[in-house]
Amino acid sequence: MEHLNHLPVPALHRFERLPDGFIDAPVERLGEILPGPSLIQIEGEPGPPLFVSILLHGNETTGFDAMQKLLARYDAPRRLLPRPVLLFVGNVAAAGRGLRKLDGQADYNRIWHDERYQEHRLAREVLAEVAKAAPLAAIDLHNNTGKNPHYGCVNRLDDATLSLARRFSKTMVWFTEPREVIAVALSRICSSVTLECGVSGNAAGTSHVENYLRHCLELSAEALFTPPPNHLSDLFHTTARIIVPEGASVGFGASVESADICLREDLENLNFERVSEGTELGRFRDGAKPLVVIDNEERDVTSRYLDFSEQRIITKLPIVPSMFTRDVRVIMQDCLGYIMEPYEVKREKTVDPAS
Ligand SMILES: [Zn+2]
Repeated sequence: MEHLNHLPVPALHRFERLPDGFIDAPVERLGEILPGPSLIQIEGEPGPPLFVSILLHGNETTGFDAMQKLLARYDAPRRLLPRPVLLFVGNVAAAGRGLRKLDGQADYNRIWHDERYQEHRLAREVLAEVAKAAPLAAIDLHNNTGKNPHYGCVNRLDDATLSLARRFSKTMVWFTEPREVIAVALSRICSSVTLECGVSGNAAGTSHVENYLRHCLELSAEALFTPPPNHLSDLFHTTARIIVPEGASVGFGASVESADICLREDLENLNFERVSEGTELGRFRDGAKPLVVIDNEERDVTSRYLDFSEQRIITKLPIVPSMFTRDVRVIMQDCLGYIMEPYEVKREKTVDPAS
C-alpha cells in the first residue's frame, strides 16, 4: 500500500436523473453541480444502457464536451434518449483545475485492478453498479497530448469489441497493460473500448465523439457489433512502454547541454508511423541514465529495443510508437510513449467442404 494519499477518500455520488445545469456547465464549474465522482442515470427507451465514462483524467475534456452537446441535442432529460445512458464522471476536482489529477490523488485510470490506492473503493462501487445495470457496451473517453490519430483501444479481440472500436477509427490498438485501467475491468462485464480523441478542446474531435456516441445510441445492437470489412487492417498491439528514469531531466531539440536526455524535436511525428531500426530518437548526456523500456510482464527490455552509444539513442528494431509526447509533465507522470507492433488476429480456419 502506497502512502501517497493525503486527500479524503472520494465518495461516489449517485444521481437517478441528469442534474440541472449539467448540460451548460463549464468544466471548471462542474464541481458546483457534481460534488465529486458521480454516476448518473439518464433515461432512455427501454433496453440495456450504454455506459460512458468521462474525465477520468481531469484535463481531458472532449468526452465531457461531446456528452453535453449530445444531451442537449436530444433535449435530455426532458425527452428520452434512444437508449439509457449510465454516465460516470470521474475526477471532478481535477477537472475544475484543468489537471490530469491533483497532487495526492491516484490517477483515476489506474485504480480499477487492485487495492493499491484508497480510490479502489470508489472503483469497486462503480463496477458493482455497472455490472448490475448490464450495459450493452462501455466507452471510456480520453485525450492525449502528442500528435496522434483518433484511435480506439481494445482489451479483447472478439468481433463485438473490435467493431465498437472500428466504428470510431480504422486505427485500433490492442493492449493488456496497464491492466489498472477502467476499460480492462469493464471488458469483463461487456464489450468495452477506450477512445483516444486527439488533443483536448479540439472542436473537430468533439463532433467526432458526439457522432460516434449518437450511433451507439441509435444503431441496433446487431449493427453496432458487426465488424465492417477489412476492420483489422490497422490493428496494433502494445508490447512495451518507454519511461524516463526518475531524476533524469528531459528536453527537446539539438542541444544536449540543457537536459540529461534530449529527444528529437519532431518526436511526436513518429506516432503510428513505422520507424525503422537505426533511427535516432535523441541524445543523452554522458553519465546520464537514458531511456528504459518495460514490457507487458514488467521486464526491462531496453537492450532489445534501444542502443545507447556515443550519446545517441538509436532504435535496434523496427517499431511503431504511440503517444510520444513533448509534454514533460505527462512524460514524468505517465511515460514517454508506447511501442507497438502491427497485429494479426489469428482466426480459426473453417474447412471448405469442397476442397
Ligand atoms: Zn486519459
